[in-house]
Amino acid sequence: MAEFTCTRCGKCCISLGRHMRITKSTSPFSHTLYVSISKETRPVLVEPGYRDLFLARSAPSYENGWCPFLRKTGDGIHVCTMYSSRPGVCRSFRCCTMRIFDIEGREIGKIKGRRSLSTTDPRLERVWSEEIVPLSALPDGEFFSRCGSVLAAHGFPCELYDP
Ligand code: SF4
Ligand code: SF4
Repeated sequence: MAEFTCTRCGKCCISLGRHMRITKSTSPFSHTLYVSISKETRPVLVEPGYRDLFLARSAPSYENGWCPFLRKTGDGIHVCTMYSSRPGVCRSFRCCTMRIFDIEGREIGKIKGRRSLSTTDPRLERVWSEEIVPLSALPDGEFFSRCGSVLAAHGFPCELYDP
């Protein structure tokens, strides 16, 4: 298994934005966050190193609809300004479980979340629906092991990331 490298593109936090709401603030950096998707309420604290950035609430540092704690740095990367106190939904989120390549090493698909294939390659789509979807009832370890074997047999090398 390989270690997943987050590129800090921010897409996950941007898409979660509509589920994140600050319900109470006791200081500019101490807030109560409500996460509607998981019905979780938790106190959060903006990290000391990100406090100036957190106060920047307009473009290019912040755009409407983003999670209220997401900011874009001057280097163009996205950061969670309260990473240590981020909620459970963020801790368990996985944007990519496996990357799938063609024989030349070009990425042609990925498994997002737990087991959802994202690809535009019709051959990979067919292999997935005909030979991998039927394995869905297997537990994770066995599923990904069998999945890797099926893909390899069709000439699709893959890289599985640590949970
Ligand atoms: S976890 Fe994935 S979607 Fe989220 S910032 Fe990292 S690379 Fe982007
Ligand atoms: S709390 Fe942090 S990790 Fe979670 S969506 Fe917001 S910016 Fe992203």
